Amino acid sequence: MTSFPSFTIEGYPRVGANRELKKALESFWAGRIDEETFTSSAHSIRLENYARLRDLGLDADYAIPADVALYDHVLETSLTVGLIGGDAEEIDLAEYFALARGNAERSPLEMTKWFDTNYHYLVPEVADSGAITPRAQRILDIVAEAKAAGHVVRPYLVGPVTLLAKSKPAEGAGNPLNRLAELTEAYKTVLAALKEAGVEWVQLAEPALVSDLTVATDEELAQHAADTYAAILGVTNRPQVLISTPYGSLRAGLEALAQAGPEALHVDLAPATLAADAGYAGRVAAAVKAAGKNTVLVAGVIDGRNVWAADLRERLSVLEGLKEAGVEKLAVSSSVSLLHVPHTVAGETSLPVDVAGWLSFADEKIGEAKALSAALAGGTVAAADDFARSDRAVRTRTESARTHNEAVQARVAALPAGQVARQPEFAARVEAQKALNLPKLPTTTIGSFPQTAEIRKARADHRTGVLNEEQYTEALKDEVKSVIELQERLGLDVLVHGEPERNDMVQYFAELLDGFVVTENGWVQSYGSRCTRPPIVVGDVSRPEAMTVEWAKYAQSLSEKHVKGMLTGPVTILAWSFVRDDVPLSVSADQIGVALADEVADLEEAGIEIIQIDEPALRELLPLREDARPEYLDWAVRSFRLVAIDAKPTTQIHTHLCYSEFGQIIDAVAALDADVTSIEAARSRMELLEDLEDSFHSEIGPGIWDIHSPRVPSVAELTELIKAALVNVPTERLWVNPDCGLKTRGYAETEQSLRNMVLARDIVVESL
Ligand code: GLN
Ligand code: ZN
Repeated sequence: MTSFPSFTIEGYPRVGANRELKKALESFWAGRIDEETFTSSAHSIRLENYARLRDLGLDADYAIPADVALYDHVLETSLTVGLIGGDAEEIDLAEYFALARGNAERSPLEMTKWFDTNYHYLVPEVADSGAITPRAQRILDIVAEAKAAGHVVRPYLVGPVTLLAKSKPAEGAGNPLNRLAELTEAYKTVLAALKEAGVEWVQLAEPALVSDLTVATDEELAQHAADTYAAILGVTNRPQVLISTPYGSLRAGLEALAQAGPEALHVDLAPATLAADAGYAGRVAAAVKAAGKNTVLVAGVIDGRNVWAADLRERLSVLEGLKEAGVEKLAVSSSVSLLHVPHTVAGETSLPVDVAGWLSFADEKIGEAKALSAALAGGTVAAADDFARSDRAVRTRTESARTHNEAVQARVAALPAGQVARQPEFAARVEAQKALNLPKLPTTTIGSFPQTAEIRKARADHRTGVLNEEQYTEALKDEVKSVIELQERLGLDVLVHGEPERNDMVQYFAELLDGFVVTENGWVQSYGSRCTRPPIVVGDVSRPEAMTVEWAKYAQSLSEKHVKGMLTGPVTILAWSFVRDDVPLSVSADQIGVALADEVADLEEAGIEIIQIDEPALRELLPLREDARPEYLDWAVRSFRLVAIDAKPTTQIHTHLCYSEFGQIIDAVAALDADVTSIEAARSRMELLEDLEDSFHSEIGPGIWDIHSPRVPSVAELTELIKAALVNVPTERLWVNPDCGLKTRGYAETEQSLRNMVLARDIVVESL
C-alpha cells in the first residue's frame, strides 16, 4: 500500500492559468465549438494542471488532488454518488449543464455561497425517497485519463455528511440528512469501484463539521460523521481514505473523526483559524493520539484563503508543536483548496516589486508546503532559499511604509470605542428629510444600468490606449446622460447615474483608495465560468481624493430630480478583497469607514442629498461559528455607521442588500440605521416583510422586480406586489424599486420593466 505523500494540497484552481476552461465553457454554450472540441479542451486543461502540479513538486503518487469539475465540485459529487440526476451509466454534458444552468424543461439548481467563501456551489435538492444510484464511471474516467498521462492522482469527493448538510429539501420533503445511511451505501459502491480500478487513496471533504448549521447541531453532525465513517471505513474493499476538514476548526467533529480512524485526516491550521481558536493545534494532536489509529495527520498549515507569503518559521513551529505533542505521522498541506486564490504571482507584471515579494498565490503556496515538508524532515537548511525568502518577506512587510500610515492610524485611534450612532435619531431625520419633497411610494433603482457592449468596449479601448483619458470620460458621460434621460422619460423619482465607470463595485474603489493593490491576472472562480479579480488590502487604507463626486455632480447637473450618490460599504469592500493578516478585519473596516465618510461629506458639498451605501456582502462574512457572530456584526455595523455618522440630517442615507434570507442578521440590518433599506423580495412574494415589521423602523424598498432573469414583469403583477408590501409596511415608509442593480440586464427588458414599475406605482397611489 502506498503511504500518504509527505506534502499535498487540499485542491487546486480548475479554470486554468489563463482561464482556459472559462473560455471553453462559454464558447461551447454559445455554440461556437462542438461537444467534442469542448471535451477535448477540458481534458487538456486537466492534464496541464496535473503536469504543472508535478513540476511544482507534487510528484509523489496521490499528492495531486483530482478535485476537477466542469462547473462545480458539489455537482460533480452529487452526480457521481447518485444524489441527483438520472441513471444512465454515462453522465452526459446535456444532463450536467441542464442542472447547472437550466434549459427549456427545467430551471437550474439554486446557487449559494460555499461556506464563508466567495465561491458559489449548486445546491442539490433531496427528496424523501427515490433510489440513490451511484454512477462511478465519471470518477473512474478521471483517474484513468490522468493515469494514461502518467499521473497517479487522488480522486476527490465532497463527503456524505457535508453533501447532505449543504443540500436543500425538495418541495415538501424533510431534512436531507435523513437519507445519510442510504447515501453512505452509495459512497461505498463508488469507493469499491475505485479500489477495483487500482486506486489507493481517495479524499472525502467534510467541511460541514467546522460550521454551525441550522440543519443539525455540532453534536448531531459529529454523531452523523461517526456513524457514516464507521460504515465507510469498516469495509476492506476500498482505497485508503483522507478525510479533509477545511474552512475552520472542528469541535465535536474532531473526536468523532479521529476515533473513526481514517488512514489520513486533514485539519485547517491556517493562521486565521488558530487565531480564532487558539488551542486548536493542541486539541488536534491530543485527539489523534488518543484515538491511537495510526492516522496520518495532514496539517493544513498553508493558508489557502489568502494571498500572503507564509511566515515559514512560524508555520514550521506549528508543525513541530504537533510532533512534540506526540503526532507520529505528519504531512503538510494547505488549509483549504487553493481554488480560492489566483494561479501564480508570476502572472503579475505590474505589482509594485516590494508587494510582489509578500505574496503567494496557488503555485507559490505549493512551494511553501514543499519547503515545510523538507524542513520537517531535514531542518531549515533543507530549504534554505525558501526560508530566506520568507524571512525577507516578513521583515520588509512589517517595516514597509506601504503597510503603515500613521495619519490613518491616529485618525482611527481617535474614534470613540464601541458602537457609534448618527445624530439625530431616525424620527427627527425623517422630519428633516421631508424637505426632499419626494412623492408617495417613491420609485428608484439600485444603481447600475445595463453595462452594454459599447461600455465594455470603451473600457477595453481605454486600457489598451485606443481611447485616451479624455475620450474615455466623454464616452462615459454620454452614457450617464442617456441613463438620466431614460429615467426622466420613464418618470422615476430618485435617479442614479448608472455606474458605467465601474467595472466592479469593489475593484472601482480599491483602485482609488490608498492601501490596496489590484492584480492583472489574479482571477478566482466565483461560479461556473465566472471569475472575479479580488483586490488586495496591503496596508492602512485612506482616500487620497474624492472618488465618485465628479460623476454624481455631472449626473445631478442634468436633472431637477434627486440623483443618488453611490458608494460600496466597508464590509462589502473587505468581503470581496483579499484582506490583511497582520491586523484584525475590524481595523481595516474602520479605516474604510472613515475614508467613505469623507466621500459622503464631499458628495454633500457637491449638492447630493441622497446617498446609497451598498452592503450586499454583510451576510456573507458572517462567521461559520455562532459564538463569533455577535462580535462580527458589531464591528460590521459600526463600520457602516462610521460612513454615515456625520451626514446632515437632511441627507437621506440608503443601503442595499442583495438577499432575502435575513434570519440571522435581521437585527444587524436594522442596526445599520439607514434611512431607506432596499432588499430582495420579489421571489419570496413579499412574505419576508411579515417578519420585518417589529425590527425595522426605517423606510424600506422590497424589490418588486426580480432582475436575475430577463423576464419583464407585468403591470398587474407589480401592482399586486406593491399592494402585498403595503399590508406590512405603511405607505409613508414604502419605496418601489427592483431587487438589485441592472448591470447584467439588457436595455430592452430594463426599459419595459421600469415603465411597468412606474405605472404600477401610479395605479396603487391612485387607489390609496
Ligand atoms: N449599486 C450596485 C448596482 O446597482 C449594487 C449591486 C449589488 O447589490 N450587488 O450594481
Ligand atoms: Zn443587489
